[in-house]
Amino acid sequence: MDMDSVAVFGRYTSWKLDRQTHVISFMNGSQYMYLIEGTDRALLLDTGWGAGNLRPFVEHLTEKPLLVANTHCHPDHAGGNGEWEEVLMLPGGELDLITCVECPFDLTELPHPDYKHSLVQDGDRIDLGNRTLEVIEISAHSNGSMALLDRKNEMLFVGDELESAQVIMNPSTPVPGVEFVLDERLRRHRVNMLRLRGLLTEDTRIFPAHNGAPISQEYLDDYIALTEHIYAGDAVIEDKLNHFYAEMGDPEHRLCRVRWMRASFFVVKEELMKLYGTGL
Ligand SMILES: [Zn+2]
Repeated sequence: MDMDSVAVFGRYTSWKLDRQTHVISFMNGSQYMYLIEGTDRALLLDTGWGAGNLRPFVEHLTEKPLLVANTHCHPDHAGGNGEWEEVLMLPGGELDLITCVECPFDLTELPHPDYKHSLVQDGDRIDLGNRTLEVIEISAHSNGSMALLDRKNEMLFVGDELESAQVIMNPSTPVPGVEFVLDERLRRHRVNMLRLRGLLTEDTRIFPAHNGAPISQEYLDDYIALTEHIYAGDAVIEDKLNHFYAEMGDPEHRLCRVRWMRASFFVVKEELMKLYGTGL
């Protein structure tokens, strides 16, 4: 285990959001996993980068039997899956596990590298005991993005499909057999956000995996508007990303930020311009 990498990618803090929900924060507070407890069981949502030290941290927070699920299977969300025997994910998420080659750790050294992938699907209900999570498929940023809705407690967990800083619409590791077509992804994103909008009550709080949580429902409206304004041709295009790591990973400056109000996507500019102003 490389101690420098653990210090960067595998250092966790946590706080209780309410009597039965923990936020586990990492990457200097910019990223979150959630530990969602019912009366009988708890569910850990996402597993970080795979530093190998998450399970004892989580077991310190709860003694309840644990389910583990991925909002999606990008390396910062599914890297640590092999610390457990079984992980719940959507079928497209299973395809995205290939992106975990980007993890800074050797994931074959985790205790359960051949852990069981238990596939769930849209509409499934996960009963934790006096608390039910509904699985909602919202794939656009990834091939298997899962939102979890807790109607009773008015909480919605959204992974990377909705957040305050930006939603990345450009995969850094290609997934064999899956073409990432921006036009399709943006249309799907809008439909997904409209669907989520219809499920929220006035008081539902939204919990993303990066850059602040909970966030205002206004972000949801702004993301719906962003896609509409891209196709209308009046969304704002910013050539400077203002994101250190994204800029480092884009030496040819292919990416831009396209924005409407508080919402923005990172997209390949050349792909964006093929859609821009073409009408929804
Ligand atoms: Zn992601």
